Amino acid sequence: MAETAKTSTNLLRGATGDWEVVIGLEVHAQVASNAKLFSGASTAFGAAPNSHVSLVDAAMPGMLPVINEACVAQAVRTGLGLKAAINNRSIFDRKNYFYPDLPQGYQISQFKNPIVGEGQIEIDVDGSSKTIGIERLHLEQDAGKSIHDQHPDYSYVDLNRSGVALMEIVSRPDLRSAKEAQAYVTKLRTILRYLGTCDGDMEKGNLRADVNVSVRKPGAALGTRCEIKNVNSIRFIGQAVEYEARRQIDIIEDGGTIHQETRLYDNAKGETRSMRSKEEAHDYRYFPDPDLLPLEFSQAFVDALKADLPELPDEKRQRFIASYGLSPYDASVLVAERENADYFEAVAKGRDGKTAANWVINELFGRLNKEGKTVATSPVSASQLGGIVDLIGAATISGKLAKDLFEIVWTEGGDPKAIVKARGMEQVTDMGAIEAAVDAIIAANPDKVAQVIAKPSMLGWFVGQVMKQSGGKANPQALNDLLKKKLGI
Ligand code: ADP
Ligand code: MG
Repeated sequence: MAETAKTSTNLLRGATGDWEVVIGLEVHAQVASNAKLFSGASTAFGAAPNSHVSLVDAAMPGMLPVINEACVAQAVRTGLGLKAAINNRSIFDRKNYFYPDLPQGYQISQFKNPIVGEGQIEIDVDGSSKTIGIERLHLEQDAGKSIHDQHPDYSYVDLNRSGVALMEIVSRPDLRSAKEAQAYVTKLRTILRYLGTCDGDMEKGNLRADVNVSVRKPGAALGTRCEIKNVNSIRFIGQAVEYEARRQIDIIEDGGTIHQETRLYDNAKGETRSMRSKEEAHDYRYFPDPDLLPLEFSQAFVDALKADLPELPDEKRQRFIASYGLSPYDASVLVAERENADYFEAVAKGRDGKTAANWVINELFGRLNKEGKTVATSPVSASQLGGIVDLIGAATISGKLAKDLFEIVWTEGGDPKAIVKARGMEQVTDMGAIEAAVDAIIAANPDKVAQVIAKPSMLGWFVGQVMKQSGGKANPQALNDLLKKKLGI
């Protein structure tokens, strides 16, 4: 795999020299679908416990799973978005284990023959881009939920989530730092949201990552990994990697060895803790589920989904750079959420792209963030912001008054052009009026005139005075030129 990132900056210092951190992620993404993977029960979040449970989800004897084609289509779409190989034939296996929230006694998953094979994701960290390999994507069922904090003596089980479709997306061990791991999950989440195959809501647990971490001396063979289960925020993924890498380095440097195990991240304490020693695949006694035929679909099914894919973030970013003249950084900011990119395009269409990007990123996003809003709930619509950009482009208002105008539109609404007219905010380009003000100020301040001739940086004082008189409406360029001429500097 091509590595363009400066790995040297990723090394961690130890007592015995530098260490390289190696990370591979297994991301569980809940498939956006109305019904579960093998039953017609609803997947709606937040329902009363055990209200969305079919007989299949409750594992009643004799019930048979029936594959939900919508979930299959979502997995294929995701595979296409990850530039991955689609397997037109795949197999569902039983992964056997006991847990109170798993009434079947096994999870239906895919082991040797997943629906999606190798793919890739581009990440950007500190200005360099790097390709991270995807090993596979497979479909599986989610389990139910055990609830321990409702009663001092009892635990409860809620099966609403039982049978909900998950995509497990497994990366190669290509990531080399906490930052890269975070960039990977952020990018994967963006792609899933563009595709509409997972809402990426980490707070609801709809996207969570198992974080595999090992350390090695640069150039050495891969070290033994520990797997940190179910980390559910991008920030915690970074913290868990950093803590775990340091823990492993300390153990090895003290003469110990790392034992492969499953750990959990305690975000309150900021540390990882051992849960259990790592189980091996054979512990699960995987075997093909005899209740399900191999999953097969035609190439025409795949092609139809491919023809229907939306423009993805990398392509959109390239197009924004090429057709609106944006910097790579601004383009990345704008494409991070599809709604943001759409808003930007509505503002930029037929206008200066850089001015539009500047207003969307600095004024609008800045203000939205401050008030916990999104473009969907923005008080300023794209057409209103476009109107402001038009008034700047036509030099009808100065940049400073444009910010005041934005504030008025934000708090009071209305058509920017009409507001400017009603409140007399037009920039004064009438040279007669500006000249009269300049003459008056020069005549009233002979001492300052003497100073500015010796020290041209004093010009700002004159600009300020005229601006004050005109209520900030004088065209700054015209004013500067005129002042220089009149003062002979
Ligand atoms: P399992 O299914 O038992 O968890 P896999 O071989 O499928 O094991 O690997 C799971 C994840 O662990 C993958 O994301 C892979 O990239 C990562 N991984 C494998 N070896 C290492 C290693 N030495 N260090 C860090 N991550 C690793
Ligand atoms: Mg695993």
